[in-house]
Amino acid sequence: MKSIVVSLLAASCCFGQIGPNDPDGFPNIVYIFADDLGYGDLGCYGATDIKTPHIDRLANEGIKFTDFYSASSICSPSRAALLTGRYPQRMGINGVFFPQSFTGMPQSELTIAELLKQKDYATGIVGKWHLGHRQEFLPLQQGFDSYFGIPYSNDMQSVVYMRDNNIEEFQVDQRLTTKTYAEEALKFIDKHKERPFFLYVAHNMPHVPIYASEAFVGTSQRGLYGDVIQELDWSVGQITKKLESLGLLENTLIIFSSDNGPWLVMEDHGGSAGILREGKQFTFEGGMRVPTLAMWKKKIKPATVHAAMTTQMDWFPTLAKITGAHVPDELKIDGRDISAVLFGKGNRKGDSFLFFDGNKLQGYRKGQWKIKMPFKGTKGSPWQSAVAAHDTLLFNLKNDPGESNNLYPKNKKLALKLFDQMEDEYHGLGELPPSLVMRMGSDNSHFNHLESNKKQQ
Ligand code: MG
Repeated sequence: MKSIVVSLLAASCCFGQIGPNDPDGFPNIVYIFADDLGYGDLGCYGATDIKTPHIDRLANEGIKFTDFYSASSICSPSRAALLTGRYPQRMGINGVFFPQSFTGMPQSELTIAELLKQKDYATGIVGKWHLGHRQEFLPLQQGFDSYFGIPYSNDMQSVVYMRDNNIEEFQVDQRLTTKTYAEEALKFIDKHKERPFFLYVAHNMPHVPIYASEAFVGTSQRGLYGDVIQELDWSVGQITKKLESLGLLENTLIIFSSDNGPWLVMEDHGGSAGILREGKQFTFEGGMRVPTLAMWKKKIKPATVHAAMTTQMDWFPTLAKITGAHVPDELKIDGRDISAVLFGKGNRKGDSFLFFDGNKLQGYRKGQWKIKMPFKGTKGSPWQSAVAAHDTLLFNLKNDPGESNNLYPKNKKLALKLFDQMEDEYHGLGELPPSLVMRMGSDNSHFNHLESNKKQQ
């Protein structure tokens, strides 16, 4: 009780009376996540063949981050890191969950939704969860009051709509998914307009297979992919308009980001990494550096932030700081509070980042430098073989964000120093749990029957 009284007093110093959704109270938080959106797919990041005026507004009236990292180049680990502020390797989430997964993000993890519940936020998620779809792993068991959406990727078998803990719809017309999510988001805002809320809108688009509703097909200059992004942009506009009409826009922190880079092997159905190298499933910048914007008209002055490296894991401690929510001392958080960056009052503490592929450490950024360990190359599916083998790489990201100029041969001493620092930080994570089992081996014995038939013919 004592700690609650203390935190209430502390909060009232910063934000005035806590209570209904008043302009001096805690901000509403709307976190909009695109799936596999590339660094070069938005107008505010240089796209000229896709029009994104509503998303660009967030950049013009808020902060545009240029060096913002997702913790993973694939879906589930990226989402786990966002919601907990922790490297996904701490949870054994080194791959993506499938409809046949029996596992999920452990319930013991503290999520942003649980954090904000301490402050009596209404919490909801609309869209893709992808952290386990068995009941014990679903959003309602992780601090969310409500859930509507597809529980995993839209290319997986059994695409269904769930509401809370139940399946609501077995037949999903994916042409309408973005529109349906927008409608659900607006309903949530209307329902909770009287109190601070946290709404997490996690789109399934533009993850393949891509779909746009009829009204958007043919509207962009980049084919269906561009149409899909323009519909996402429309849905962002719906949310900002709704907040504006309710008088809530001024005190709402809207964050827009992507879970990982574009799926380049999907060719014209994948996005663009713009100036960056490679995309989804790789630890080059294109796989993990994601377009990210934050608008909070009352508190954030428009700016472009590039000097400070920032990560998806930073939102957890930052939102804790902004709301005065308590983070247990013993919890190991990898993100950093970036409220000083948001408010133009300072830099992020810490300028290093570990690049993992699953549970394999592949690279490290420290300040403007990035090293990558030698890569043998992989064979198999098109995406596994998309990147050729390479030796050790060293880049100066400030001058060379596209990672085209390998400085390793002439700077081996610097590279060795960076490797040492990388090892220290990696070992600093402590013992990591084994990988969760994401996919059970299939029983393919029926194919043996076909094979034997062939032989007999
Ligand atoms: Mg993704």
